[in-house]
Amino acid sequence: DTEVYYDDDADRSQIDGKTVAVLGYGSQGHAHAQNLHDSGVDVIVGLRENSSSRAAAESDGLRVETPDVAAAEADVVSVLVPDTVQPAVYEAIEDGIEPGDTLQFAHGFNIHYNQIVPKEGVDVTMVAPKSPGHLVRRNYENDEGTPGLLAVYQDATGEAREEALAYAHAIGCTRAGVIETTFQEEVESDLFGEQAVLCGGVTSLVKHGYETLVDNGYSREMAYFECLNELKLIVDLMYEGGMGEMWDSVSDTAEYGGLVKGDEIVDDSVRENMEETLEAVQDGTFAREWIAENQAGRPSYTQLRDAEKNHDIEDVGEDLRALFAWGEGEEAEAAADEEQ
Ligand code: NDP
Ligand code: MG
Ligand code: MG
Repeated sequence: DTEVYYDDDADRSQIDGKTVAVLGYGSQGHAHAQNLHDSGVDVIVGLRENSSSRAAAESDGLRVETPDVAAAEADVVSVLVPDTVQPAVYEAIEDGIEPGDTLQFAHGFNIHYNQIVPKEGVDVTMVAPKSPGHLVRRNYENDEGTPGLLAVYQDATGEAREEALAYAHAIGCTRAGVIETTFQEEVESDLFGEQAVLCGGVTSLVKHGYETLVDNGYSREMAYFECLNELKLIVDLMYEGGMGEMWDSVSDTAEYGGLVKGDEIVDDSVRENMEETLEAVQDGTFAREWIAENQAGRPSYTQLRDAEKNHDIEDVGEDLRALFAWGEGEEAEAAADEEQ
């Protein structure tokens, strides 16, 4: 089965003594940079002139240079600016990337879809924590780990995997466990998952359920609770113990009804739509569409975002969330603290 790498599998001499340029100081960038630094690795943060992130990086005790300067000096360049700006940032740093250096990513989009074409002689790797950056940082500070993925796209030195594993160790991922994948698998499964199930599928399911109830005369408040609010309770159970724990926890009526009706609602036609969605990811159609959308200034994206914001369920939800005490005050406060 899948091999999982832990601390003992990493050889830290593969990263200790090297200089890592971390480009970007956002969600992932601040976490990688600080964890590497605290692990004793030499870190330079690469930020554009007048970057709004400069003050944070400097006050965290890190050296900041422009991306081209940081990359030229570094042995490992960790590209942690947003995916849509990575090709332009790469153009600015390309001259400083020499044979034997490493280009390191946390997501494979630009490499897999050839938006960045690395030189020969350069190692190209991925260490992708499976968490937002603030947790990557917090877990590290608490002597805990964050599970991660590791992949090698180009191994020019013969040591790309070992170095990536050492990088994963230095940011705390091997404390929790790291599994190996490929750039292709990481990108395609990630895009498919967020489109079909996580972000796209689930919001569409919620909206259809809500609209069905409201259109048939049920109150907006009841429809909101039933189709959106309670989803968290169901997902928490599945997260903890799989679908089995969820089925065990709900009533027999809910279990029977769900088992009978679920596959009628999300039927074979939905499965066919999923196959098409996956095909568009695999053959690059979706990537081309998204790149063109960005080049055009995001006209459809802006429109879709607005429509989603203006959906009735968002309106009723905002009112209800303000009216009810959910008993999650501490959690919400902790989350708010986290953001600061
Ligand atoms: P962010 O959006 O948090 O990155 C913001 C940082 O990038 C800021 O420091 C910003 O500085 C800088 N930046 C933005 N535009 C530019 C530019 N044009 N030139 C130079 N710097 C710029 O990125 P994420 O951390 O979310 O994502 C980084 C990578 O990690 C991506 O590949 C993403 O797919 C991957 N990833 C993200 C995860 C997450 O949870 N967010 C999880 C796993 C992987 P400025 O103030 O100058 O704008
Ligand atoms: Mg260099
Ligand atoms: Mg994703």
